[in-house]
Amino acid sequence: MVTTVILGMLCVHLLCFCVMFLLISTRLNGKKMGMEVFALGNFLLGLAYVLQLLGGPAGWGLMSVVNHTLTLCAPVAYVLGALRFFDRPTAVWRPLLALAGGYTAVQVLVQSTLGSEARHALLAGSCASLFLVMTVAALYAGRTVAKDLRAEMLVFAVLIAGICVLNAAKMVMILSGGMEALDLNSSFQRTFYIYMSFLGTVLPPCAVWLVLRRLTDELRSMAAHDPLTRLLNRRGLTDGLDAHFRSRTAGPAYLLIVDIDHFKSINDTYGHKVGDLVLCHVAQVLKATARQGDLICRLGGEEFVVISLDTDRAGALQLAERTRAAIEHSEVPGADSARPVRCTVTIGVSAHFTSTQALDESMQQADAGLYRGKASGRNRVESAHA
Ligand code: GH3
Ligand code: MG
Ligand code: MG
Repeated sequence: MVTTVILGMLCVHLLCFCVMFLLISTRLNGKKMGMEVFALGNFLLGLAYVLQLLGGPAGWGLMSVVNHTLTLCAPVAYVLGALRFFDRPTAVWRPLLALAGGYTAVQVLVQSTLGSEARHALLAGSCASLFLVMTVAALYAGRTVAKDLRAEMLVFAVLIAGICVLNAAKMVMILSGGMEALDLNSSFQRTFYIYMSFLGTVLPPCAVWLVLRRLTDELRSMAAHDPLTRLLNRRGLTDGLDAHFRSRTAGPAYLLIVDIDHFKSINDTYGHKVGDLVLCHVAQVLKATARQGDLICRLGGEEFVVISLDTDRAGALQLAERTRAAIEHSEVPGADSARPVRCTVTIGVSAHFTSTQALDESMQQADAGLYRGKASGRNRVESAHA
C-alpha cells in the first residue's frame, strides 16, 4: 500500500515536471537546451508508472510489455536531451522508436523462451547497464565538455549511480528469488521506489538549474562582448582588468590602442559588408599576436584596445610592432579574391599602469600616441613618451 502511494506520487511528480519542462522549452526560442526531450523522458517514465499502477501485480501482458519498453526508453530520452543540452544536435524520435520496436521484440522472444522472470530481469539488467553508462558519461562530461559544471555533473553521477546499483540488485533478486522480488509490498521494492521518488523530485530542479546557469552565463557573456568580432567590449575589458589586478602577483600592464587607417575609405570603396570583414580580420590578428591572457577589446567603430599584462615597456612595444606588421602583411579573408583587401593600423601605446582606476589615464596616453602616429603618416607605433 505504501509503495503504491509512493508510486502514485512519483507519477504526479514526473508528469508535472514534464509540463514544466515543456513550458520552459517554449520560452527558449531556437535553442531549447534539450528541455523538450527531458519533457518527453518524464512523460514516458510517468506513463510507464501509470501502467504499472493500473496493471496490478507483475506478470505477462500487453500493459507490462509497454511498461517495460517505456521504462527503458525514458532514460535514453534523458541521454538524448543531455546531448542537446551540451550542443550535440541529435535525432530523438528515430532512435527512440527503433529502441522501442527492438526492445518489444526482444521482450516477446525472452518471454516465450525463458519466461516472465527472465523478461523482468532483462529490464532491470538493461536499466542497470544504461545507468552505469550515464554515470560514467556524467563524470567524463565534468572533466571535458562541462568543466564549468563539474560539481553538478558529480552530483548527477552519484544520484544515477544509486539507481544503477538498485537495478543491478533487483536483477540479482529476480534471478535468485523469482517474481516474489517484484512484490510492491516487499521492503526492497519500497526502498527502490522511495529512491526513484527522491530522484523524480531532485533531478528536475537540477536540470532547471543547469538551464538557468547556461542562460545567465550567456547573458553575462553577451553583456561583456562585442557582437560583431566577439572580442571584449569596454565593460568586459574593465571586468577582465579588475580580475587581473585582484591577483596578488599581478604585474604592470600596458595599453595599446589600435586604429585602422583610412577605414572610412575602405567602407566607401568596398561597402560596409567588406568593412565588417576587415574589422573581424583585425580582431583575429589581434587574438593571434597577443599573448594568452592579454585582454583584447573592440572599443567601438574601428578602434581596438589590447592590454598586455605582466610585461615591460619593451614587451609592449614588441607586441605593438608585431601586430602592426601582421596586419600590414595579411589579406582580408572572405573578401572578393579579384580585389584583395588589405589594411594597415596605427597603434598608440600607454605608459605602464597597475590599477583599473588608471585605465582612463592610460587610454588618454595611448590616444596621444595614436594621434602622433596618425599625424606622422599612419601605419606605425607610437608610445606615450616617445
Ligand atoms: P583614420 O585613418 O584617421 O583613422 O581615418 P578613418 O577613416 O579610419 O577614421 P574615421 O573616424 O574618419 O572613420 C571611421 C569609420 O568607421 C566611419 C564609420 O562609418 C565606420 N564604422 C564605424 N563602425 C563600423 C562598423 O561596425 N562597421 C563598418 N563597416 N564601419 C564602421
Ligand atoms: Mg581609423
Ligand atoms: Mg578611429
